[in-house]
Amino acid sequence: MYSFSNIKTLQADLKTGKTNCTSLVEEAISLISQKKQLNAFLEVFEDSAKELAKKTDEKIKAGTAGKLAGVIVGLKDNICYKGHKVSASSKILEGFESLYSATVVEKLLAEDAIIIGRLNCDEFAMGSSNENSAFGNVLNPLNEKYVPGGSSGGSAVAVAANLCHVTLGSDTGGSIRQPASFTGTVGLKPTYGRVSRFGLIAYASSFDQIGPITKSVEDCALVLEIISGSDKNDNTSSSQKVENYSNELTADKKFKFAYLKECVEAEGLDPEVKQAVLKQIEWLKNNGHVVEAVDFPYLEFLVPTYYVLTTAEASSNLSRFDGIHYGYRTKNATDLESTYKKSRSEGFGKEVKRRIMLGTFVLSAGYYDAYYSKGQKVRRVIQEKTKEILNNFDFILTPSTPGTAFEFGKNSADPIKMYLEDIFTVQANIAGVPAISVPCGIHSNGLPMGLQIMANYFEEGKLLNIASKIKS
Ligand code: GLN
Repeated sequence: MYSFSNIKTLQADLKTGKTNCTSLVEEAISLISQKKQLNAFLEVFEDSAKELAKKTDEKIKAGTAGKLAGVIVGLKDNICYKGHKVSASSKILEGFESLYSATVVEKLLAEDAIIIGRLNCDEFAMGSSNENSAFGNVLNPLNEKYVPGGSSGGSAVAVAANLCHVTLGSDTGGSIRQPASFTGTVGLKPTYGRVSRFGLIAYASSFDQIGPITKSVEDCALVLEIISGSDKNDNTSSSQKVENYSNELTADKKFKFAYLKECVEAEGLDPEVKQAVLKQIEWLKNNGHVVEAVDFPYLEFLVPTYYVLTTAEASSNLSRFDGIHYGYRTKNATDLESTYKKSRSEGFGKEVKRRIMLGTFVLSAGYYDAYYSKGQKVRRVIQEKTKEILNNFDFILTPSTPGTAFEFGKNSADPIKMYLEDIFTVQANIAGVPAISVPCGIHSNGLPMGLQIMANYFEEGKLLNIASKIKS
């Protein structure tokens, strides 16, 4: 069995014939079935993956293969791939097949990546533990009693358990970085607009971004370089030039870091996570970087702002799932209205319904000003403060999450407790800046911890450069 270390080595090994795409796909399929209990994959695209492998093997022989030849990629189950099922881990999309591919999928395929299947996640990407999937929990491979994080739980687990080489997730408030932190992988949320959202099933459109989960920062840089860029199908995608992120990694640059005092002193921060972050700060200082504490007086407003605005957007985005256009339709309807009501009541899970109701409430005539408008104003204040810090510093450092992965059921009864899992990650989505989570040590409970680094808009190159230097 081929042992994957990084994409660069894999490419070299494919060239010399040490392995080939057909056997890589066969090995992946067999490992996924051996590790079925993890529940990371909702479906393996066996036939199309084998076909892609065969074609790519021919291209490798002919010397015409792309930059991701032979890289086995899994997709979060909210990213469309033409002719394949996609469900956002929801019963409401039962039986639905994508009519077109997401731009990111087209870009991956153009570089000869092999798409192996779709990955379990929280329903409509709403959750922090992958306990909200209609298709069951995903287990953390490092300790199966623990959650893998969410909402891109399957994406993180597939990489951590070596079921594929790279995965794509989506991040609205931390859904790439938090599961990456819980599984010891690297996860990056790009600048809003860096990567096209065309073909991503929307949760909260002004927050959502697609990004990679990988084993190394090097792989993350390469995949980001490929999936980034402007797209005529997504008006919010940026025309800013895409850097050659993988070429940015080697330079030895010295940077100025801010760490948010309130985050490091936050009540509820696990003391060992705090120590791990402080250790990284010491290491950075000892290596010629400047690290200073700054005030961030809005920490307590991050999560409420995120939940007011994202639920509002979700209530609008999810109104299209009505039992008529897509997927699931109730068998118990008597007329049009009961078709809508019953299809939605039966098709959506509890958390999704909670958020649709909350979002509808904050948008309703009587409460719009008090909640939605106010939320937008607070978003602006948080954005301005984040920009102000990033105009004076290269990066902002925080822990990725307040603690390590937790046991199943621990936060399920209390949504507020679950929502506070996102306290450090939502800032980057509220402001729209890029952020990465990299492993930064192992807790005494045996589980990994993550360091989050945020950078200014479109400074992914710089962000990946420093992330590649962090040693866990
Ligand atoms: N955990 C957050 C939530 O539940 C983030 C989700 C996400 O980024 N998609 O909304």
